[in-house]
Amino acid sequence: MTDYSLPTKIMRSTVLKLTLTYLSIMMIMSLIFSFVIYRTSVIQLRKQPPVRSLGLGRIKEVPKQKLDELEDVFAKQAREVEQQIFVRLVWLNIFVVIGGGIISYVLARKTLAPIEYAIESQTRFVSDASHELRTPLTVIQTMNEVALRQPKLSVSEAKDVIKQNVEEAAKLRILSDNLLGLLKQNSTNPKISEFSVIDAVDEAISQVSVMAQKSSISLQSTVDSTIISSDKTLIVQLLVILLDNAIKYSPENSSVTVSSQRRGEKYAIEIQDNGVGISPRDQAHIFDRFYRVDQSRGKTHKNGYGLGLSIAKRLADQLDVEIKLKSSPNKGSKFSLHFKGVKQTTS
Ligand code: ADP
Repeated sequence: MTDYSLPTKIMRSTVLKLTLTYLSIMMIMSLIFSFVIYRTSVIQLRKQPPVRSLGLGRIKEVPKQKLDELEDVFAKQAREVEQQIFVRLVWLNIFVVIGGGIISYVLARKTLAPIEYAIESQTRFVSDASHELRTPLTVIQTMNEVALRQPKLSVSEAKDVIKQNVEEAAKLRILSDNLLGLLKQNSTNPKISEFSVIDAVDEAISQVSVMAQKSSISLQSTVDSTIISSDKTLIVQLLVILLDNAIKYSPENSSVTVSSQRRGEKYAIEIQDNGVGISPRDQAHIFDRFYRVDQSRGKTHKNGYGLGLSIAKRLADQLDVEIKLKSSPNKGSKFSLHFKGVKQTTS
């Protein structure tokens, strides 16, 4: 089980701090507002003209005692109004504390939601990566411990151990390369230039041709000579990932084809294989980090860490390219790269 408690604790205390900050701002505003209202009302009430200045004092029939009583009544009423205003303002501030607290909490959660998502995905990433690193490391450790426990190790047995060590080390290297690739993606900006699709596809094919030859898979390209404006290195990297998978998940003696489609302003590069295909259920997840289709359901056990397509997806997002997939089990897969908002001309 993955322990996400530390970031959750940090998030909780940050939400609390932000809620208190928002609430303090609201309370300061409300108290200032209440003070101004109260002071203004009190000044106005106390300014109320005394009964005598209303001219009542000049009416002879009104005795002085009555005038004093009237003045007392007015003063009493003014004090009562003052008190009422005070009580209402206190209620208003209590309401601001409760209502403002709820609003502040909702606002704080909303403000911190993207950060919370980033922290959570980073934690999951580190945890998944450590899990993936642990498997080959455990194999290496167990293998070497068993070999060391043998009183006599023949040369061929020692060579076997070394061979397995080299294989596991190679897996670890691939994994660390992939992880570094993911990190680099976050820190580099694309270098946009104009280049021919043919050049990019040829470069990608040359990088995977040895692997294709090993599996006797024929690689064909029929892409046109469109010039696109993008980051060539990243497009080649993207194509290599898709070609690498197309080869990896295809049977021996089959073929992988790269073609292009142009419809008006829209342009796409398509990679078609005749491999194991991907079920609709898995299609929903294959771009997730560390997601691998359950190979036990297929006949093949291919090396990989489920990082290739998540890297491809990130590259595509960075370049404003859309990746689409059409696939069905045992009928092959077609991954296509759709270029939008990119300058496209034909040379
Ligand atoms: P991996 O290193 O496992 O190949 P990816 O992220 O590149 O990781 O791919 C994720 C999963 O998607 C793979 O485990 C594989 O099952 C499936 N997949 C990717 N490309 C293809 C393809 N062309 N044909 C069939 N399955 C594929």
